[in-house]
Amino acid sequence: MEKLIITVALTGNVPTKEMNPNLPVTADEVAADVRRCIDAGAVLFHVHARDVNRQPTLDIDAFKERARKIKEVAPQAIIQLSTGGRAGKDWEARVGPVRLLPEMASFTTGSSNLPGMIYENSPQFIEFLAKVFKETGVKPEIEVFETGMINNALFLQKKGYIEAPLHFQFVLGVPGSMPGTVKNLLFLSENIPSGSTWIVAGIAKAEIPMAAAAIVMGGHVRVGLEDNLYLPDGSAASNPALVEKVVAVAKEVGREIASPDEARAILSLNPQFKDRILLD
Ligand code: ZN
Repeated sequence: MEKLIITVALTGNVPTKEMNPNLPVTADEVAADVRRCIDAGAVLFHVHARDVNRQPTLDIDAFKERARKIKEVAPQAIIQLSTGGRAGKDWEARVGPVRLLPEMASFTTGSSNLPGMIYENSPQFIEFLAKVFKETGVKPEIEVFETGMINNALFLQKKGYIEAPLHFQFVLGVPGSMPGTVKNLLFLSENIPSGSTWIVAGIAKAEIPMAAAAIVMGGHVRVGLEDNLYLPDGSAASNPALVEKVVAVAKEVGREIASPDEARAILSLNPQFKDRILLD
């Protein structure tokens, strides 16, 4: 089995300090959390930005500040910026993080319902975003909330916008989308092209169980406060504590943990783009 890649979704758009005081919000808090998570075994960091009022923002300087501070404390970290943009619907603002040339960025290839809102990704927007991935060479993490989003990605691949090997993230357990069950995870993992890589993001109580399933199935794992605020015993989680849980499960079953450069090789990231991200 490949070594295990551990991703941390550090902040997201929805959680607040009131929900969990361990949430990293400022750039300094984000960087400090990355350092602790790297030390615990994580290698890849999914980053959203917040403004001075702790609200989600697509402000490009806020992304740059986070990337710069992460690179200062953990130069080996793989940075994946979010294009989720629940903070707004302006197309150019949503692709802004990709234009900063991080090694990776997230790419949801369809729409779905989230609690209280539509997560809107129209076919036109998806194609627009796919073109920016192609132009920039940034590796997309294809976020799949529903089976059809795999097919949408394959359609974009056929049109030449995204290239194999594809990398998928299965988001399981969002209310309104596919539940976090082993059956669903198996189904999705069997329906991507061979040679692809995949990672699972279990939401809320599904986080650690889905991670455990992926560890024994040969997939990779995303944890973090964006997806889940609690440890399995019901106490308040922190990003490093969630990484430690996953590492403990992996150790128990004998799955080795990937270093940042091993993860880059597994994900077929272009080594020339390792330090390409625009920081100022
Ligand atoms: Zn996100």
